[in-house]
Amino acid sequence: MLKIRKDGDKVLRTRCQEVLQPFSAEDKSTVKEMEAYLEKSQDAEYAKAHSIQPGIGLAAPQIGIDKRMFAIFLTDGETTYKYGFINPTILRTSLKKAYLGGGEGCLSVPEKHEGLVYRYYKIVLEGFDVFQDKDITITAYGYLAIAIQHEYDHLDGILYYDRIDKKNPLYHDPSAVEV
Ligand code: ZN
Repeated sequence: MLKIRKDGDKVLRTRCQEVLQPFSAEDKSTVKEMEAYLEKSQDAEYAKAHSIQPGIGLAAPQIGIDKRMFAIFLTDGETTYKYGFINPTILRTSLKKAYLGGGEGCLSVPEKHEGLVYRYYKIVLEGFDVFQDKDITITAYGYLAIAIQHEYDHLDGILYYDRIDKKNPLYHDPSAVEV
């Protein structure tokens, strides 16, 4: 099972490297393994038996690899999203912001940091997806867009609480959408 690096580990504060092409079978399988970890983590019995937290996204530095790769596995409404990105780029962002009403969490940050994290409501992301085995461009909204931006931040050594307003952590932006 993958060992999750915790806050304080230097790799979580590293700007990760672009992965050189052609992508190796090892890198692709690492991303698939990261996604599989997320699926298992959402199985309540499995998570309890292995004392792990449920997660919806996991970035390579969280398992000690300083490469620009992350996995997403989440369900929003009726749709389940499963991605394994290598070298993702955010191409476009909306003016509109969104946030999780309960704040964000992170498998690498055991301590809860109270506060709201404002992110783009909508993003267009391009990258190589290991599951489709090709470059894809997706438009993500709301919950998915927030999860992707959280993971994307990990590739630049940014943790979610860095984005909480220190003076006013629960500052409410009335123009932002609660997700
Ligand atoms: Zn995280």
